[in-house]
Amino acid sequence: MRLSADIVLIGARILTWSEEVPEAEAVALGQGRILAVGLKAEAIGFAGPETRIIDLEGRRVLPGFTDSHSHLASVGSRLSSLDLGDASSLEELQGKLLEVVRTREPGEWILGRNWDESGWPVRRYPLRTDLDRVAPHNPVALMRVDGHMAVANSQTLERLPLEGLVGVERDRDGNPTGILKEEAAQAVLDATRPDIDQIADGIRRMIRKAHSLGITAIHDIVDRREVAAYLRIHRRADLMLRVNLMISSEELPNLLGGGFSSGLGGQHLRLGPIKAFLDGSLGARTAALLQDFEDEPGNPGRLMSSEEEMFKLIREAAGAGFQLALHAIGDRGIEVALRGLSRVDCEGKRHRIEHLELPSDENLRVAKRLGIVASMQPNFIGKWGRPGGLYEERLGVERMRRNNPLRLVLDEGIQLAFGSDHMPFSPLFGVHWAVNAPFENQRLSAEEALRCYTQTPAYASFEEGLKGTIEPGKLADLVVLEKDPLQYTERIEEIPVYMTIFDGRIVYEGA
Ligand SMILES: [Zn+2]
Repeated sequence: MRLSADIVLIGARILTWSEEVPEAEAVALGQGRILAVGLKAEAIGFAGPETRIIDLEGRRVLPGFTDSHSHLASVGSRLSSLDLGDASSLEELQGKLLEVVRTREPGEWILGRNWDESGWPVRRYPLRTDLDRVAPHNPVALMRVDGHMAVANSQTLERLPLEGLVGVERDRDGNPTGILKEEAAQAVLDATRPDIDQIADGIRRMIRKAHSLGITAIHDIVDRREVAAYLRIHRRADLMLRVNLMISSEELPNLLGGGFSSGLGGQHLRLGPIKAFLDGSLGARTAALLQDFEDEPGNPGRLMSSEEEMFKLIREAAGAGFQLALHAIGDRGIEVALRGLSRVDCEGKRHRIEHLELPSDENLRVAKRLGIVASMQPNFIGKWGRPGGLYEERLGVERMRRNNPLRLVLDEGIQLAFGSDHMPFSPLFGVHWAVNAPFENQRLSAEEALRCYTQTPAYASFEEGLKGTIEPGKLADLVVLEKDPLQYTERIEEIPVYMTIFDGRIVYEGA
């Protein structure tokens, strides 16, 4: 007996990314899979009495988006913290903080996130004293948008055991300024950790948000508690997102010798790569550069650990059968990442470099030879890469123009997967900035950019046989867009998501 479809979409303009039928007008979905794609008559052939037939009236359909670099569990679990993303000056940040202070008892923690001084009239980090002024009696810690840095007030500095940690910035007299980078910023996060219930709740809320953005899969960077939260949701069979877990390298000792390796799991939850930091960020001036930061002479950033320690980690993880995902932003960080990877077997392993912001031409050739997947964030170009923006300030004009060279990466023949890093969480915002990037060596066509958010992420997680294209037998994960990004190339970020289908079910419908 022929399987009948649950849903048939007709009147659609489908980009399938398949070689045989690149464009189609109809698709039949049943039992969570794509049954047929092509002409209306072919798809309707799968309709039975129960089938829902939906006429999309010429709307664009694509494979569901995959965000290849997300922190969904971590962001979700901190949703209740103060969002400072829209504070457009230090005074506004202080005002928002004061509002929260008024609702809290003295001594209660106040956490904030997402501040970004790069668009403020006075571009300087907020300091301890700025926070003390409005919050003298509560411990306050506010994470910068890049997650590599926080500012804390005096109450927090008194409570946290920060002695001996790298990244506690001090003034000339040796007093902490409140700025906490990398390790020290992590200590704040550790001290204020949500429990597994809170994490699971946050994940559920973030999944609804993901659906509204057309996202049906993510590669999520997690620690063991976040894995536990995902497993809890998965056991109840309500994980409505495909999650490729990128395990933080601190967990590697717990995994070694346990028979774990990348690929374990199924279509919903899958053990992916080990994610390790080689360097920091440009925003926090901690990315490892070959030359100093333009706006901080004498500081070329730094590696997060010695090369030897890094190579040991790479060897151990690769030896146990793990794919690697190495965070490397600065030209020096990227060089060390590639050197480390060239010491292990890369054949068919699809090791990844996360961000890859400032690669040299030679780096790209080596990456290609090693079969490295470039996991990049085109949204960074829109947020900080425009002339006069943060990257120009940190790197100077010449290096700013070489930053995020998406075009060169693709032209080199490197597999390029896009993610958001939640700055902001939105594939179409990213696609927009890949297409409308200021420099030629960054700019992609809309089709190329959309593939980087659909097809290549599936390759990056070894799932190209399951998803990433719209072909019979593949998972029924689709996004329907209100307008065609191939035509509205100058306004891609504004295109509303019309419908998101996950596992053959409609999980989001736009207003
Ligand atoms: Zn990240």
